[in-house]
Amino acid sequence: MIKKFIRRILGVANKNNANEPVVLGPKEHGIDPRLISPNAVRVTQTLQEAGYKAFLVGGAVRDLLLGIKPKDFDVATNATPEEVKRLFRRAFIIGRRFQIVHVMFGPELIEVTTFRGASSEAAPKDEHGRVLRDNTFGEQHEDAVRRDFTVNAMYYDPATQSVLDYHDGMADIRSKTLRIIGVPEARYREDPVRLLRVVRFAAKLNFSIAPETQAPIAVMAPLINNVPAARVFDEMLKLLMSGHAMACLQQLRKEGLHHGLLPLLDVVMEQPLGEKFVRLALSNTDARIKQGKAVSPGFLFASLLWHQVLEKWNAYKAAGEYPIPALHLAADDVLDVQADKLALQRRITSDMRDIWAMQPRFERRVGKTPYKMLEHQRLRAGYDFLQLRCESGELESEIGDWWDAFIKADGPGREALLAQKPKPEGDGAPKKRRRRGGRSRTKTAASDSATSADEATE
Ligand code: ATP
Ligand code: MG
Repeated sequence: MIKKFIRRILGVANKNNANEPVVLGPKEHGIDPRLISPNAVRVTQTLQEAGYKAFLVGGAVRDLLLGIKPKDFDVATNATPEEVKRLFRRAFIIGRRFQIVHVMFGPELIEVTTFRGASSEAAPKDEHGRVLRDNTFGEQHEDAVRRDFTVNAMYYDPATQSVLDYHDGMADIRSKTLRIIGVPEARYREDPVRLLRVVRFAAKLNFSIAPETQAPIAVMAPLINNVPAARVFDEMLKLLMSGHAMACLQQLRKEGLHHGLLPLLDVVMEQPLGEKFVRLALSNTDARIKQGKAVSPGFLFASLLWHQVLEKWNAYKAAGEYPIPALHLAADDVLDVQADKLALQRRITSDMRDIWAMQPRFERRVGKTPYKMLEHQRLRAGYDFLQLRCESGELESEIGDWWDAFIKADGPGREALLAQKPKPEGDGAPKKRRRRGGRSRTKTAASDSATSADEATE
């Protein structure tokens, strides 16, 4: 009781003087040290032994306080990037303007960031108030104030097992509330990506949004238009791969963050024919992430845009094109429009083309084609995609079952499966062959060659 009272007083003191954090011990925060990556502890320990401050920070601390195993760990320190780099064998300085250090332990990456200084009035901004550059180093309390939400601004010291709470984050963890630090309008204006982040965290953590944090969202939504497409893409990808994609998208809609603002969301939500397919793809992705399985952005975007491709593929076939070239032309058409709009990198579009290009080949269950498919580098992704098409009702489930059996079967089993299937009708010969040169295309269409598959795996 007395402790609580003191803490409340401290909490108030904290609000008046955000330079001093409330310090919470293990009994108060309840973090289970077994959920922490030993490599992350190694990083804070090494830095501390060299005389620096070092803490786990951000989403990892938030998740630990919620009893969730964090997916990755960030460390904040007062050592400069150069000083950090010197202490580790495999450490790389990343970024030009605000440098951070990637410390590698086998496949695990620990991101180490030097405390950032308070956002200065003089920082360069665009005409809408978005901060363009603000890269000074600073004190820990300044670093805390620059973080987005109170629950993301806590620091954990594995050595003392204490949590440093500068903005009453612990109270918001307990009441499951997302509260932006500072004046909400100003924080959204300086970085409109926070509008998407609040929605992602609310859906993912099942938190409510504090009224003052929520009120400006719909009003300030158009500010997203001024954010570089690549940054919006990164944040949307995090959202789609959060394991709660459907919930996130519904919440974006609810908060008024969809129409015309996020091209990706328009693609997902506004295609009546493809809706079932997109829903299936997203719930499939959510399930895979929850099971700890890999999800590739290429597969995800191949699914999100599939019905646009399908529509054009059918149109080209109806116009007399062979199925495979027709699909390549359809893929070109869709990517010509969407790749820039959605800021899709070449690596991703190349994966998408591979997955799409395999589809007509799955439908050709004769001769050597099925055997060649078994050797395809992307067989698993292409096959999963085929199953999605069957599940959505686009294809007969018989074809998915056939492939399932064919992949699992031994030599004679495969021969039997091939013999069982008569040559499919209408699969090869087009009604009318389009004249060569009828359409000028310089770009190569979707490639299903091994070379492009190699490239895509880089
Ligand atoms: P996740 O579990 O999804 O990774 P996260 O909170 O760790 O969630 P990150 O994007 O990894 O999110 O960012 C790490 C931390 O950096 C955040 O917890 C927050 O403190 C800070 N941060 C990230 N993006 C912003 C932003 N746009 N504005 C302010 N602070 C940010
Ligand atoms: Mg993180």
